[in-house]
Formats: sequence, C-alpha cells, structure tokens
Amino acid sequence: MKACYPGTFDPITNGHLDIIERASKMFEELVVLIMDNPRKKCTFSVEKRKEMIEKSLADIGHPVNVRVEIGYGLTVNYARRLGCGAIIRGIRAVSDYEYELQQATANLSLDDEVETLFFIARPAYSFLSSSVCKEIAMNGGKLYGFIPSPIIQEVMDELYIPVEEL
Ligand code: ADP
Repeated sequence: MKACYPGTFDPITNGHLDIIERASKMFEELVVLIMDNPRKKCTFSVEKRKEMIEKSLADIGHPVNVRVEIGYGLTVNYARRLGCGAIIRGIRAVSDYEYELQQATANLSLDDEVETLFFIARPAYSFLSSSVCKEIAMNGGKLYGFIPSPIIQEVMDELYIPVEEL
C-alpha cells in the first residue's frame, strides 16, 4: 500500500524524520505531503520546506520509496488523488490525541477508504515540535539533535538574531 504523511513541517524536525523512517519501512511508497494552507502563517515557504525535507532525508539514508510533494485543499482528497490508502500521523501526548482523533474521524466520514494510522513518537522526540525548534533557534540555542543536520545552518540563518541587534 501507498501512504502519505501530511503536515506543515515548518520546519521538519528529527521527530518528523523518525516517523518518515519508520513508516517508509512499512509501505511500498511514502509521500511526505506538505499541506499548503494559506491561512496558516508559516516561517518558511512551501518550496523552502520541500527543499529542507529533501535535504534532510540524507540523515536516514534517503529511502528510495520516499518522495516529497506539496498538497492543496483537503488532505483526504489529496491522499485519494495520490492513490494513498493510508494517512500517517504522529502522536506525542494526550494533547495531540484529541486533535488528531477529530481530524481522523472527519477524514473517515469524508472517505472511508482512506485510513488514518498513528505512530507514537519516539520518547526522545516526544517533546519536539517545529515551534520548540524555532524558539531554540531564535535564542541562539543548539539545534543539533533536534533538527536534521543538513538544515541546521539555514534554520539558524533564518531565525537567529543576536540580542544586541534587536
Ligand atoms: P500539522 O500542522 O499538520 O500538525 P506538523 O508538521 O506540526 O503539522 O506535524 C505533522 C504530524 O507529525 C502531526 O501528526 C504531528 O503530531 C506529528 N509530529 C510532530 N512532531 C512530532 C514528533 N516529535 N514525534 C512524532 N510525531 C510528531
């Protein structure tokens, strides 16, 4: 079966990358789907986010069955258009669960041939989110271990402003 892993990935973190690696071993093909939602205020453009995910795949040996796409509109419609029978999402804590359950239930009502499957976060990454990483970057903290190594420099270049320049 072909699956997609939709998200905002603003930017991709090691938590996302771990889900990509684990899911890629279970499906014939995995499409990492950056959902372009113009109503969401993002730090990085969709094109930049795509480029960053593609570079980051090097950290997991660039599995041949993983590709990155930009999606529009309803995730479930896009998943169907791509021929995906499964939507992969990650769960870090109970706080993720309520939102994810609502989304997955809505998607099932819209299309009952696309199943949502959840991967639990690896404990080392259960606190990790794109916003936590951005906060660390803005304040000049070390991103190593949180963000895939090929993109650390560009995330810092985009976000870090030394206090004396503020
Ligand atoms: P969205 O805006 O769609 O929630 P995100 O990029 O924030 O997009 O997250 C995409 C998916 O990855 C979500 O299902 C989220 O719960 C999951 N996720 C985010 N961070 C982690 C992590 N550290 N470990 C596991 N799953 C994660």
